[in-house]
Amino acid sequence: DYASSLLGLIPGARRATPGLKDLLALVNAYLPPEQVERIREAAEFGTSAHKGQTRLSGEPFIAHPVAAAAILAELHLDTDTIIAAILHDVIEDTPTPKDQLAQRFGADVAEIVDGVTKLDQIKFKSREEAQAESFRKMLLAMVRDLRVVLVKLADRTHNMRTIEAMAVPRRRAIARETLEIYAPIAERLGLYDLKLELEDLGFAALYPQRYRVLERALKRARGNQKEFLKKIEQQLTAALIKNEIVARVAAREKHLYSIYRKMRRKRATLNEIVDVHGLRIVVDKADTCYRALGSVHSVFKPMPGRFKDYIAIPRVNGYQSLHTTLFGPNGVPIEAQIRTEDMHRVAESGVAAHWKYKGGDA
Ligand code: MN
Repeated sequence: DYASSLLGLIPGARRATPGLKDLLALVNAYLPPEQVERIREAAEFGTSAHKGQTRLSGEPFIAHPVAAAAILAELHLDTDTIIAAILHDVIEDTPTPKDQLAQRFGADVAEIVDGVTKLDQIKFKSREEAQAESFRKMLLAMVRDLRVVLVKLADRTHNMRTIEAMAVPRRRAIARETLEIYAPIAERLGLYDLKLELEDLGFAALYPQRYRVLERALKRARGNQKEFLKKIEQQLTAALIKNEIVARVAAREKHLYSIYRKMRRKRATLNEIVDVHGLRIVVDKADTCYRALGSVHSVFKPMPGRFKDYIAIPRVNGYQSLHTTLFGPNGVPIEAQIRTEDMHRVAESGVAAHWKYKGGDA
């Protein structure tokens, strides 16, 4: 959609705070006018409820929930979720009671806001991985409506985008919690884009020095690999066309935090990690995926033991794709994912797809 494609043109723009105008433009693109009007009313309600409150950055408080709502609007979520995001701090930070929200905006909105408020009251203390896992499970189990978690993730994402306003010790605590609790929850729910953003922002806030060094080295490595990757893409595209398969072939960029984690886990250097290339092939139907796999294997030999069929056996979060690793030119490994457009959408936005606005009474 238009607003997010514009944001994509400006590096770092996603980290800025979208205002009410941006939010309304986003929802206008997929919701009918009367629902956009309800969202505008919620923004007015929130603005007067939070009147006089400011964020650490000095801007009016309402800028935060509006920005969180914009993150969910980019996922085309339904009106109640957007309104709940706008009002998510109203019960906790203002004298507004839950009943009043229910009267003005309906029981669903009130329940979601109440759920987010209750989540905020559980404090995460432990650094132990095992306890982080049980915390994630508890958090997912205690919410009846998963939209509560979606609003919480948007809340956290905007807080991470603006974390510079916070003092360093608090910043580190929030960043650690983001990496240990919220990014894995986003992953569990299949919200891949949010997961990546939470990880990179968390990594940058927790280890700023490592982040900068790695970012610089990665930029250099990618510059050197451009031509090489282009050639592989062309070779594979040619093979697919020869077999009359219509496909989008694109290089997949690895993100800083996942590279960092891999380096630590495998005790590997940056070059060993970035030398493994990622490719994605998107086709029309499931059976085309298998034909595409055959074409790809005829160009580059597959690495034994690395093929995974997540189409026949999807992951728990609904993720589907074929995974294979190829021996590319000079034996350079290429990790390929093959999937349909539908599978691609689920891979990017996971459970959010279930609460997408579908029109009518869907
Ligand atoms: Mn908040």
